Amino acid sequence: MQALREFTTMRVGGVPASLATPQTRNELIAGCLEVWGTGEDWLLLGGGSNIVAADELPLLNVIKVETKGIQLDEIPSGAIVRVQAGENWDEFVAHSVAAGLSGIEALSGIPGTVGAAPVQNIGAYGQEVADVITRVEFLDYETCETEIIENSAMNFGYRDSVFKQGKLGAILWVEFKLTASAHTNKTPRLIEALGDSEETPLEVRKRVLSLRHQKGMVLNDSDHDTWSCGSFFTNPIVPRAMAAQMPESCPRWDVEDETLQKLSAAWLIDNAGIGKNFSIAGSGAGTSTKHCLAITNRGNATAEDVLQLARYIQVNVSNRFGVNLVPEPNLIGF
Ligand SMILES: Cc1cc2nc3c(=O)[nH]c(=O)nc-3n(C[C@H](O)[C@H](O)[C@H](O)COP(=O)(O)OP(=O)(O)OC[C@H]3O[C@@H](n4cnc5c(N)ncnc54)[C@H](O)[C@@H]3O)c2cc1C
Repeated sequence: MQALREFTTMRVGGVPASLATPQTRNELIAGCLEVWGTGEDWLLLGGGSNIVAADELPLLNVIKVETKGIQLDEIPSGAIVRVQAGENWDEFVAHSVAAGLSGIEALSGIPGTVGAAPVQNIGAYGQEVADVITRVEFLDYETCETEIIENSAMNFGYRDSVFKQGKLGAILWVEFKLTASAHTNKTPRLIEALGDSEETPLEVRKRVLSLRHQKGMVLNDSDHDTWSCGSFFTNPIVPRAMAAQMPESCPRWDVEDETLQKLSAAWLIDNAGIGKNFSIAGSGAGTSTKHCLAITNRGNATAEDVLQLARYIQVNVSNRFGVNLVPEPNLIGF
């Protein structure tokens, strides 16, 4: 049996009790029902890009979703696209951009599968997948029945959804409404990064990929900075009064709730004295050489090395600024 380190981008994680690799929607349903029927622990695995798995796993049955299929139906404003959960996210972005569709081009280069995209409402440069998902098909762990869940019932928030909040089961396919558009409707964050000139979705995709490459945010076997889960901590959302007490140079952004503001986790880490390329002596984990928000595997890290560094960062940021950083990846088996 292969260890989970073979299937996760952080490249840590021990050997599971079993590993199934369903290729079709029906196989995925059958595989889940079989494992759930045993009452043993289970994990739905996509591309393993948002998981840190323990070195010694308790009895854990892994279902690695490899279902494929993209069905595109044109509508007057663009297209409704239904994508099976195991499709690669970035290949789907490339596919939709090539079809002249806009809505997810700023999410180019994010690793993982389409089925995992709603789980933490993936986002980058001000675009979020919640803005374009219409509904998903879901196999519910509690009822063992399939159901359609509409966008409004997914409780999407910043890196958050009903699936992260504890609704257990498997996302079978995701449906998107994308717009046929010659130019990308740029968010303020995208304008900040790319400028405000008119650009086609394809141009935006190329430029986003290039920016992400520079930051080690596109998977690359030979670049240890990408042996990570991307950003390890979410940007903390704190009371506005607390944000006002932060040094002026700390970037902050308004959120929907006017009493709160979002702070830059990268700034907090950097200003707590933990910069790029930082490692605890003897550890195989370190912050990326390109930015301090990614915890990376420098080659021989254990899951314990990764968590030790995460805790070290949390304690230092909390001591310096009184802010609690919350890990973005799912911690499995600890
Ligand atoms: C280099 C790098 C850059 C990144 N950049 C970004 C970024 O810019 N923005 C961003 O938001 N994220 C980013 N991430 C995080 C990650 O890519 C996303 O969270 C991605 O959606 C995870 O997909 P996955 O298939 O790898 O999920 P996995 O890591 O395999 O699983 C993540 C979670 O989803 C669950 N899950 C997976 N598939 C299903 C399914 N079909 N049904 C139900 N639950 C499921 C798993 O059980 C787990 O809880 C980055 C990661 C890396 C390594």
